[in-house]
Amino acid sequence: MSNRIDNLLHEDRRFAPSDEFAANAVANAELYAEASDDRLGFWARQARELVTWEKPFTQTLDWSNPPFAKWFDDGTLNVAYNCLDRHVDAGNGDRVALHFEGEPGDSRSLTYAELTAEVKRAANVLTGLGIRAGDRVAIYLPMIPEAVIAMLAVARLGAVHSVVFGGFSADSLRSRIDDAAAKLVITADGGWRKGKVSPLKPAVDAALEARGDLGPQDTVTNVLVVKRGENTVDWNPERDRWWHDELAAASPDHTAEAFPAENPLFILYTSGTTGKPKGILHTSGGYLTQAAFTHKNVFDLHADSDVYWCTADIGWITGHTYVTYGPLANGATQVIYEGTPDSPHPGRWWEIIEKYKVSIFYTAPTAIRSFMKLGRKIPKQFDLSSLRLLGSVGEPINPEAWMWYRKVIGGKTAPIVDTWWQTETGAIMISALPGITETKPGSAQVPLPGIAIDVVDDDGNPVGEGNGGLLVVTEPWPSMLRGIWGDPERFQETYWEKFGDKYFAGDGARLDDDGDVWLLGRVDDVMNVSGHRLSTAEIESALVSHPFTAEAAVVGASDETTGQAVVAFVIIKESQLEESKAVEDIQAVLRTHVGEQIGPIARPRQIFVVNELPKTRSGKIMRRLLRDVAEGREIGDTTTLADTTVMQIITEKVG
Ligand code: ATP
Ligand code: MG
Repeated sequence: MSNRIDNLLHEDRRFAPSDEFAANAVANAELYAEASDDRLGFWARQARELVTWEKPFTQTLDWSNPPFAKWFDDGTLNVAYNCLDRHVDAGNGDRVALHFEGEPGDSRSLTYAELTAEVKRAANVLTGLGIRAGDRVAIYLPMIPEAVIAMLAVARLGAVHSVVFGGFSADSLRSRIDDAAAKLVITADGGWRKGKVSPLKPAVDAALEARGDLGPQDTVTNVLVVKRGENTVDWNPERDRWWHDELAAASPDHTAEAFPAENPLFILYTSGTTGKPKGILHTSGGYLTQAAFTHKNVFDLHADSDVYWCTADIGWITGHTYVTYGPLANGATQVIYEGTPDSPHPGRWWEIIEKYKVSIFYTAPTAIRSFMKLGRKIPKQFDLSSLRLLGSVGEPINPEAWMWYRKVIGGKTAPIVDTWWQTETGAIMISALPGITETKPGSAQVPLPGIAIDVVDDDGNPVGEGNGGLLVVTEPWPSMLRGIWGDPERFQETYWEKFGDKYFAGDGARLDDDGDVWLLGRVDDVMNVSGHRLSTAEIESALVSHPFTAEAAVVGASDETTGQAVVAFVIIKESQLEESKAVEDIQAVLRTHVGEQIGPIARPRQIFVVNELPKTRSGKIMRRLLRDVAEGREIGDTTTLADTTVMQIITEKVG
């Protein structure tokens, strides 16, 4: 039996960039030709043009010990200097780096000069606390300017940050602190979320207490605490220090020292969508090069006029590469927002876009679908005309959600870049280039210049156009992970063992007849129905193309006759609730629709209407939990779930 994934959906819509957009685009089509002629030469040029080196590199790539790559190995640089001082030196110190919007409505803007000064002070504080190059620092903060300042201060010293999402529990924090043997934790008293202060310091206290049986003991000697929530906190005078006191007392002068290109920059744990999070290690020169290149070209950044907003939390890779390193390396002006999209009202994001005249907006399909669920009336109340480019990341974006994003948010003109990448890849790998690529709803489209992608079968043979299979990266890339922290074997096993010389991403994909890439979902989630391998993304997109459906998740449940059967969970749009209740059998209506859209084989055996879907903290659907429900098993590990009550409600419903 073929192990290819059958491809079912068909999409004919195409959107060419406007002449005006194309004429002013940052990227140009020659990049593809240049990179295909001389891939390493292309990356070397990007590294020289986008990054300032203290000592120039002479070797671009050392791949003598695969899969352990070294990029620009004999070059030295300081990553924070690249994100800060050099912009001030170039006369852009007065440009706003961060427009911070707090959830309660407070706001603060920091110029590049101000941000640089803050990072210098913070770097001096960290030095005073004993942090040296190579030491690990855990950062557990809300989305406030200090989160970016802390990351850059750590980077400035050649130390390694491990940012832990502020919504994670004390246990998750402790296991990440222990795994990296962090010396220092930077946290806040609390941060604003959904209209109230959500305390953070107690989780740090709990994580640092009751240690002992869990790995290296007492590696943490200090905790720096930012005052944000103004909530009362317990204080350990030997260990805890207020950020504002320490910074006020620190010198504003700090000269950035250069470190080797392969100096570790950060460890970041994956979202945990498929299992236990992995501590992904990234280094400096290659990472910064690809972060800057992709941020500039994929988002068409005109640094002197654009206002950029990426809604990701710094706890995720998107927040690392497209809030901290990419935009700041490029001297961009950006918005960061502390709170949730619906606080204090469901139009909050659109209000922020109107307020700061955001021109480039980057978010996740999960957010777009939740706005679709509420309806277009809400965004319509705001002036979104400043938007000229939209981006999507995190999951496949269903064509219907893509069209909604384009029409309702993008005013029918803004190009959409659907960007495929992973914590492991460090930066965007597959995406349209705005102004050049004709876009297609639902397809991530083409590998970026300098990136080598293929879709292969189980034996590693290319499937060719028109077929589905497994997504692989066939050549090393500058921002690739350098390993899993402390576990080189797991690194080899997880990504390299399957094909030997190709990086296995774990995602299913297909190439359409134009050679464009469509992401089909996780390979672990592919269903096998009567010998046909079906992708979650296609069936979910078919369900979402029905006017009733805002969001859908499908899984394969074991079935006596077909091997596996498709089981779907759908959320109905608010505007369609009445109508959907009026139909006699909504399950039959949606099954018929899927049958019409993609064929009888894909028709779900069962469809459950639910109010929420289980998602990771970064907003990705956790299908493995739904599979547990569909097969009547006990629910698996839910520790990275955003809302653990969701599973209970769904289980009751399915009963
Ligand atoms: P874990 O590896 O622990 O299960 P995770 O894979 O969810 O967690 P991330 O690195 O945050 O952790 O997510 C990367 C994954 O997100 C990709 O492998 C892919 O499945 C999905 N993804 C990201 N961007 C896109 C996109 N544009 N289209 C389709 N899928 C995407
Ligand atoms: Mg993953």
